[in-house]
Amino acid sequence: MQIQDKLFIAGRFVPAADGATLPSLNPHDCSHLADVAMAGKADVDAAVEAAHDAFPAWSRTSAAERGRLLYKLADRIEASAEELSRLETLDTGHPIRDTRGADVPRTVATFRYFGGMADKLEGTVIPVEAGFLNYLLREPLGVVGQIVPWNFPLMFTSWKMGPALAAGNCVVLKPAEITPLSTLRIAELMAEVGFPPGVVNVVPGLGSVAGQYLAEHPGVAKISFTGSTATGRRIVQASAGNLKKVQLELGGKGANIVFDDARIDAAVNGSAFAIFHNQGQACVAGSRLLLHEKIAGPFLDKFLPLARSIRLGDPLEPSTEMGPLTSTVHRDRVLQYIEVAKEQGAEILLGGKPPDRADLSKGCYVEPTVVRARPLDRVCQEEVFGPFLAVTTFKEDDEALALANGTGYGLGGGLWTQDLTRAHRFAREMKSGMVWINCYKRVNPASPFGGTGNSGYGREMGFEVMREYTQAKSVWVNVDAKLPPFYPRQG
Ligand code: NAD
Repeated sequence: MQIQDKLFIAGRFVPAADGATLPSLNPHDCSHLADVAMAGKADVDAAVEAAHDAFPAWSRTSAAERGRLLYKLADRIEASAEELSRLETLDTGHPIRDTRGADVPRTVATFRYFGGMADKLEGTVIPVEAGFLNYLLREPLGVVGQIVPWNFPLMFTSWKMGPALAAGNCVVLKPAEITPLSTLRIAELMAEVGFPPGVVNVVPGLGSVAGQYLAEHPGVAKISFTGSTATGRRIVQASAGNLKKVQLELGGKGANIVFDDARIDAAVNGSAFAIFHNQGQACVAGSRLLLHEKIAGPFLDKFLPLARSIRLGDPLEPSTEMGPLTSTVHRDRVLQYIEVAKEQGAEILLGGKPPDRADLSKGCYVEPTVVRARPLDRVCQEEVFGPFLAVTTFKEDDEALALANGTGYGLGGGLWTQDLTRAHRFAREMKSGMVWINCYKRVNPASPFGGTGNSGYGREMGFEVMREYTQAKSVWVNVDAKLPPFYPRQG
């Protein structure tokens, strides 16, 4: 069955109640890829109801069985790796060498990790006064709403669904309106491996309609959101009606600091990966490069030629290292930021425009771009979310720390140094949910991921995320305590 123009509700693929669809384009050449269904309020209501119907049985399903289904799903995704890699590449523009080498294997690893987590989620016995047993039950929340962006749709599906399902919740997930295809295919695989109807529902749709309504919905116990800071604020407001739990993974403006004792070749390679991987469309991208002034010249002498040599092209070509941005709207936004940089006097060191190539002229391409900018320029403060790197220099450690912490964001940041004391001092003092030392943008399903400040709150992955998808219930038992009368009556 064709699933691309459908919603997945109660275990079935169905059209939107009002038949609405939106054309989805291939960002390589803006050709028509699919018409995708757009959920409206009635569809979100139906998905939430299906999830509620499924919850009593799913939450009582043994943890081992929930884990078994997640393992089966991981195996099934692995068996469909090539198909999913191509689908993700077509929908997002992410080069196939990355979808094959990272997105799909990480999706598999994440579902496996949470499959293993399902029956390791233990309660606790609390040491209270003699005569009482007090224990904590860790219970699922109920129906959780999950809203994801378009930059890593497949991987984020596993980050969101894996822990929620392992903990016994039912899910209504809204993918970004422009990239729902891989998530719909995952839903189909889930049905194939035996997830009961209603446990997972997928409702592609506009953020302002389906996303907003899901965030407001009184039947939803929690929203886990990944996306922009502005939308995150709207979600917090929308959640107030039923005081739902909210977890926010928002934007970033990652500082990547290179000290004068760094191993330069490793730092050059790592810094290029930090910003140009996935065309810079990563919340944790190292989009501010802070260079010690002593090594800035030699560093850039190696970094700029490397960035210039990145192979741009059709993301389905295995040799392509950088593909198009994911939509025309987003490409125009990135190009607009390049204009802002120029207006504020930034020096363009590399790129700064779409590539001058006939074979890429219809697509959403932007050249790897490097500018020298001042710390308070807009392009050093605001998230560009593209292949755009702002370079600044510093003299002293304290200055580097102040620059690193000098935005409202606090998601990820990195440093390159051989000085252990400095490395651990920065790890402690950087205002950031994640710090990478002599590497950048490492992620693993076992390691917590999330930010602080304008980058949001709560954590994905690791054991930490299991707290996000459960609530603790404290149970008191009088084992052999003699309770004195509370109202002692005489005679
Ligand atoms: P966005 O906020 O516009 O959209 C994200 C999702 O929210 C989409 O599904 C969208 O349809 C939905 N949405 C939009 N308006 C909504 C509303 N009023 N109510 C509910 N949902 C709504 O962000 P984007 O442009 O799609 O994604 C890029 C942003 O995501 C960047 O800022 C990036 O940093 C951030 N991001 C963060 C992380 C992280 O883990 N911290 C990861 C990836 C991307």
